[in-house]
Amino acid sequence: MTTAPLSASSFANAARARPARPLISIVAPCYNEAGVIEIFVEAILKVVDGAGYDHELVFVDDGSEDETRGRLTSLADSHSQIHVVALSRNFGKEAALTAGLDHANGDAVIVIDVDLQDPPELIAAFIEKWREGYDVVYATREDRRADTFAKRFTAEGFYRLFNKISALKIPENAGDYRLMDRRVVETLKTLPERSRFMKGLFAWVGYRSVGVSYVRPERAAGETKFSFWRLWNFALEGFVSFSTAPLRVWTYVGVAIAFASFIYASAIIIVTLAGGRDVPGYASLLTVILFFGSVQLISVGVLGEYISRLFIEVKRRPIYVVDEVYSGDK
Ligand code: UDP
Ligand code: MG
Repeated sequence: MTTAPLSASSFANAARARPARPLISIVAPCYNEAGVIEIFVEAILKVVDGAGYDHELVFVDDGSEDETRGRLTSLADSHSQIHVVALSRNFGKEAALTAGLDHANGDAVIVIDVDLQDPPELIAAFIEKWREGYDVVYATREDRRADTFAKRFTAEGFYRLFNKISALKIPENAGDYRLMDRRVVETLKTLPERSRFMKGLFAWVGYRSVGVSYVRPERAAGETKFSFWRLWNFALEGFVSFSTAPLRVWTYVGVAIAFASFIYASAIIIVTLAGGRDVPGYASLLTVILFFGSVQLISVGVLGEYISRLFIEVKRRPIYVVDEVYSGDK
């Protein structure tokens, strides 16, 4: 486990005072995770028990269809620090995370996956950095061996393109696993958008951030909820939510094509004036028609991506719906 070289002393206005015995919230979204929840809780408790801070575990049941909810509520019955926010249906990980952040009370909040791909042992390093004065401490994967080819492929392409076209920079190989100070969480809560691409929102709020690197293990049990198609849509969401470049590029494509057309048209006119009419031209005509037809359809499609998001934003529906908040019957 290595950490980036910045130290607390490099801040102009020394480290912010942290409470002597802070409350740390651990937020974990769960969708059909019945097989790992108990192992996860055990692993977390091993790390946080007697570690010099108070803790609470906020589980968000993202409309699981398996035993997840029952397992969570019975854990809440036996552990006073466990709270369950059950959503009314599956809203997706981004919405579930938002629900978790909204219900967490800690001085710092840690967002973590329940499948143990985000090693709980990193929490100590997170808190150490937070005490040093960093407001955001995120985990960065040393490699992506544990990921499927589809995931590696989309992820790599995504970060490269995203960081090129968007003014915002998302740290490469950083997932959602991170610690955030209370004021970062409060800032996140003020962001009103419905389409919540969390990695983008995390980067957008800024604050003093630092990465801690780790090797990402395989899932402890169960399987990934992200198919290639879901990842693709996720990436698209990221682009469209955080960049207007795909919209603006058509102006330049249009100008380039107009310029080429002007030259080509001039050439045809000159050739026709000089050499007379030349009727054959079926192949070139058809090629040009098909080409422009596709360029126009693509640009309309891109417009559609933005308009569909405007539509969703404008309706202002809640990001998630809570069915029940359960803290146990003790
Ligand atoms: N998850 C969720 N809602 C969903 C899909 C996933 O809350 O609709 C949770 C899931 O239970 C897990 C985390 O998000 O805790 C990451 O999911 P997964 O492990 O499937 O993603 P991967 O690690 O493959 O990126
Ligand atoms: Mg996982």
